[in-house]
Amino acid sequence: MLTIPPNVTGQIQPLDVLCFRMYKGCFKKISDFVFLHDLPVQVHRRDVILRLHSLLYQQFQSPRFENSIAEAWHKSGYTDERFMYVNLAKFMFDKLKGSCLHENCRDIVLLVCGWCKARLCFHHFFDAHYFCTIYLP
Ligand SMILES: [Zn+2]
Ligand SMILES: [Zn+2]
Repeated sequence: MLTIPPNVTGQIQPLDVLCFRMYKGCFKKISDFVFLHDLPVQVHRRDVILRLHSLLYQQFQSPRFENSIAEAWHKSGYTDERFMYVNLAKFMFDKLKGSCLHENCRDIVLLVCGWCKARLCFHHFFDAHYFCTIYLP
């Protein structure tokens, strides 16, 4: 049996290497967006946190990102096999030019949907509870 030494999970614990780190990063990007744009949402409130987790977790479930976990085992040094994977944070937060999916919405784009690639503002993601399940490769 091998045990992971303390304080190195970020380097050798596969879920830490790609999944949790990316998840935390994405969560922070969304809460930073709220502060930056002074949105009337209290991100420390439990119901807000729960809703954000629910919506973000759904984004992580997109088939687009399924190889991330497999690749995490390689990056952590456990397997030789490599997997092509889409960097979730890059996909969701790097190409924000353009406008929100909703016609006539002039709000600044928060993210790109990991499922259908639609651009969404905070309102149409969070308030409208955007729980996408339509996968467009
Ligand atoms: Zn979508
Ligand atoms: Zn919008």
